[in-house]
Amino acid sequence: MKERRPFAVTGASPHYAPDRPVKLDHIALDLSVDPKKKKLEGTITHRAKVVASHLKWIKLDQVDLDILDVKIGMEKAKFFVEGNFLHIELNRTFEPGSTIEFSVKYQLKNPRRGIYFVGPDSDYPSKLYQAWTQGQDEDSRFWFPTFDYPNQKATTEVSVRVPKGFTAISNGALISKTDQADGVQFHYRLGTPHVTYLVSLVVGEFSEWADTGPHGLKVQYYVPKGREADGKRSFENTAKMVTAFEEKTGVRYPYEKYSQVAVQDFIFGGMENTSATTQTDLTLHDERTHLDYTSDPLVAHELAHQWFGNLLTCRDWSHGWLNEGFATFMERVWVECKSGPDGGFEEAKYYSYQDWKEYLDDDQHKYRRPIVFNTYIEPIDLFDTHLYQKGGLVLNLIRSILGEADFWKSVQLYLVRHHGQTVETLDLIRAIEEATGKNLRRVFDEWVFNAGYPEFEVSYQWHEDKKLTEWVIEQKQTGGQPSVTKDGVTTSLFHLPLSIEMTLENGERIKNTIDVGDARERVFLPSPSRPVMVRFDRDFTIPKTLKFPRPKEMLLYQLTKDSDCMGRIEAAQELGREIGKTADSELINVLEKVLTADAFWGVQVEAARVLSSIRTDQARDALVRALKISNNPKGRRGIVSALGAFKDEPSAAALKTFAEGDPSYFVEADATYAWASSKMKPWDNHRLTDIKSVEDFLHQQLEKNSYRQVIRAATLRALSELPGVESGDRPKALETLIEWTKRGHDTDARGAAVRALGSILKSAKPNEKVKILDVLSYLAEEDNFRLRFQLVPALEDSECEEAIPILSRIAQKENDGRITRAVQRAINHLMTSGTLPESVLNLKTALEKLEEEHRKLRSLFEEKMGKGFNQLSE
Ligand SMILES: [Zn+2]
Repeated sequence: MKERRPFAVTGASPHYAPDRPVKLDHIALDLSVDPKKKKLEGTITHRAKVVASHLKWIKLDQVDLDILDVKIGMEKAKFFVEGNFLHIELNRTFEPGSTIEFSVKYQLKNPRRGIYFVGPDSDYPSKLYQAWTQGQDEDSRFWFPTFDYPNQKATTEVSVRVPKGFTAISNGALISKTDQADGVQFHYRLGTPHVTYLVSLVVGEFSEWADTGPHGLKVQYYVPKGREADGKRSFENTAKMVTAFEEKTGVRYPYEKYSQVAVQDFIFGGMENTSATTQTDLTLHDERTHLDYTSDPLVAHELAHQWFGNLLTCRDWSHGWLNEGFATFMERVWVECKSGPDGGFEEAKYYSYQDWKEYLDDDQHKYRRPIVFNTYIEPIDLFDTHLYQKGGLVLNLIRSILGEADFWKSVQLYLVRHHGQTVETLDLIRAIEEATGKNLRRVFDEWVFNAGYPEFEVSYQWHEDKKLTEWVIEQKQTGGQPSVTKDGVTTSLFHLPLSIEMTLENGERIKNTIDVGDARERVFLPSPSRPVMVRFDRDFTIPKTLKFPRPKEMLLYQLTKDSDCMGRIEAAQELGREIGKTADSELINVLEKVLTADAFWGVQVEAARVLSSIRTDQARDALVRALKISNNPKGRRGIVSALGAFKDEPSAAALKTFAEGDPSYFVEADATYAWASSKMKPWDNHRLTDIKSVEDFLHQQLEKNSYRQVIRAATLRALSELPGVESGDRPKALETLIEWTKRGHDTDARGAAVRALGSILKSAKPNEKVKILDVLSYLAEEDNFRLRFQLVPALEDSECEEAIPILSRIAQKENDGRITRAVQRAINHLMTSGTLPESVLNLKTALEKLEEEHRKLRSLFEEKMGKGFNQLSE
């Protein structure tokens, strides 16, 4: 296994919540904002209860604000600014229990974070003027001075004057909207305490409409004018989700209204500002996109935060999974609610499976850490797949351990008890114990406070004489020890109830639950006859890896007859791993049926992957036939990508049709890339006669508009892989790639061009290398966050030392923690790996050639033997 890098990078240190000498009660902001002039000025008033004895000074967080005046009550107060703090001297000593009210008059200077002003320029003349804020994790201090940490909660009130024609959106109920001589004043008030990172202000020109949710709740939507239909399509399920989440949690939606506003250039997908979520306008989509894309996960996630994150907030960032893990888990819960129990939860299980794969990829290739962890540089470092995906999966596991009813009973107690407060993980453990009598401390220790997951190896045997099945279950992650510690991170053995299901020939199912916890366990389970199918962790509730070889006939039964989609997927993968290595006609025939006949698209996708890995002509023909009749766009996507691995004419011919047109943007995009890949054969030493026609077709594809530029992005990537681009033989392709990085083009397409250029650098000849590095170096000055976000991995992919100074330049002026962290990792990577020597590149080509020869041999073998087998069986 590849060595994991430690999570904590140089400069990281343990973090704790700050002291709280006063307890905030209410915050009132009285502001004027002009998005065109990029101005914000006004006064903030805090009302608080004193906690500390003999309080003489108050220290507020602020960054780069112009502090004009401070008052205690009505009296002017002395103050000074030092670093990122505003120190206020109190006019007398305050004692515990007394109330203090103080106000600060201020204006923005040149905010680097916290509040963002966007608008048109010569390259993007149709952009709209907007101002929006983003407080999480510790950025509200860039637009108002306050106690900016989640250990303080207060009710808030935002009164704001904006120019005529603009709408202001903030937290809570709109108390008044007043026309004034020079603009409009909006006054909002939120009556339930929340933390400062959730205070939001959005100013722009919007279309608005509303639905009615449960108990008459006003569910509001704001989108740029002209995007109303896309907005209705994207947010269509919001009100239903409020009802569903109220029913699940047993706790009413807690705020005066729920609004979503779609803004330009947002730096996250969505932000769950209390009762007033901000969404990226990239989620707004047309009817064609809606065929195989939905905004539901985003909408459900931000809505779920209103309970988990806003009503209850992690007391410090190390417990951030109580926000993000729950919100991710609730995405799945919505998928369950939507498909209903009759849907067999197929979509929901597969949804969790995707989460699992994303987390596993990071765990295996990046780093491993416990979910609760306080060593970091910036809190945003913690917002990774451990916090979101693994957090959500662990909650799903806990639900399966407790059972549906007990789980939600616990959640309800947790929400009711800490209503409007801050929480730590222990609060959840205690709520579970009090609601159900079950102490899950060990489960939390293993899954939340320690790291990793069980790596199971299972074997199974049938004893005819004793009518018993014998199971050997091993946990391999600790090498036989109770726990292992590496880089300060401990992984232990996991103590779990495990479901084992055996299916008999007559269809009868025998379910067993056994407790495991040792490195090796041997278990005997009775069965009246030989099972035809055996399943381990039947409902896919344990995040785990599993090696569980079984006889081919058992797996074929499971692939075709298991009513559970995860069982069918597991069987396809296991068959591919073991039997797929030999050319097996029977398996290929079964997989072909699955590609179009399986009721669930996720199984179709996994079957296509297995066929792609078998890589024989028969497997290819199965994919080609299935592609022509596949009527599920998501299934079709899987088949198209699988075919891209076959570098031959039958695949190319099949793919071209779908690259030219498909009802789904995503299929068309994937088919474009797969078609181009199928035409490229590095072992032919790039003597391809038709590369010119590939290049021409790709240039045609670049004309196509699509949702988030998926077709252009796939095309640019394909162009970058054309043989000769890196050595100056295809100057037009290289110029095209450079052209698409330029301002004026859509950011998604620019980002794809940047990534494509980065991938060429590895093998570029000196002239091309200089050209590309010049472009990337120029882009380091780019003010577009999402472009810089692509630039850093592009430079990391380059494998060349010249990228390091460019990365350093980005880091020096970067304000976003996500990018600075990515830069640090990229530099580390480039320092340690260095440039790939030419010999390694040659080796790679040689290997690809060998693989192709191997494939041909296998196809030949399959043709001869396959026919032989078929004749025998007839
Ligand atoms: Zn979230």
